[in-house]
Amino acid sequence: MGANPDRGFFKMKILFLGMQGSGKGTQVELLSREFNIIKVVAGDLLREEKAKETKLGKEIADYIDKGNLVPDEIIYRLIKEKINGNENYIIDSFPRTMEQVKLSKDIKFEKVIYIKIPDEIVLDRLQGRLTCKNCSSVYHLKYNKPKINGRCDNCNSQLYVRDDETKEAISKRLECYKRETLHVVEYYKKKGIINEINGDREIEEIYKDIRKLFK
Ligand code: AMP
Repeated sequence: MGANPDRGFFKMKILFLGMQGSGKGTQVELLSREFNIIKVVAGDLLREEKAKETKLGKEIADYIDKGNLVPDEIIYRLIKEKINGNENYIIDSFPRTMEQVKLSKDIKFEKVIYIKIPDEIVLDRLQGRLTCKNCSSVYHLKYNKPKINGRCDNCNSQLYVRDDETKEAISKRLECYKRETLHVVEYYKKKGIINEINGDREIEEIYKDIRKLFK
């Protein structure tokens, strides 16, 4: 159970979905910090495994660097390991395909937060994005500058541009999102647990709306 001064004890099983560049990562970080609940970020788990340069890491790199989805069983296993029996979690971007939904019926959600942004601003947001090597916080050269150039505000580690943030990989990722993930959004809509949030606004405004879901 998580503890929050306003609500006492509660359960929190949350899924965040949204197109790349929707600002999901930033919102997941804010919510996870405020409620002191683990965040399970599919992309981060894969990038961490890649950085280890193990056999599995190299296999993963082949997929993510080209903007392709990693095989379902691999990502499912990494997500389960990270949840590690915790009752509360905020998962970012898993399940992302209907196959993953079927594979992971044992991972339950009470709320799905779907951050929506128009296609035309996605490219602009993804180009110019900077990620922290250590804690994966995300910045942007135009929209969310770090206080010190090239350094993370949270942990002062170095910021870098991800390998899959080239123009080709970005358009492949967006294509993939539309082909696969929109079906997952529809699925949760039918279940009646989707909360749609307009992501084309300031970080603080978006967070205010998300926060209202937990009153
Ligand atoms: P993201 O940081 O969410 O943009 O994810 C980066 C990359 O990780 C994606 O382009 C995919 O290659 C991979 N990835 C992230 N989430 C998943 C998932 N649920 N299933 C398969 N591959 C994923």
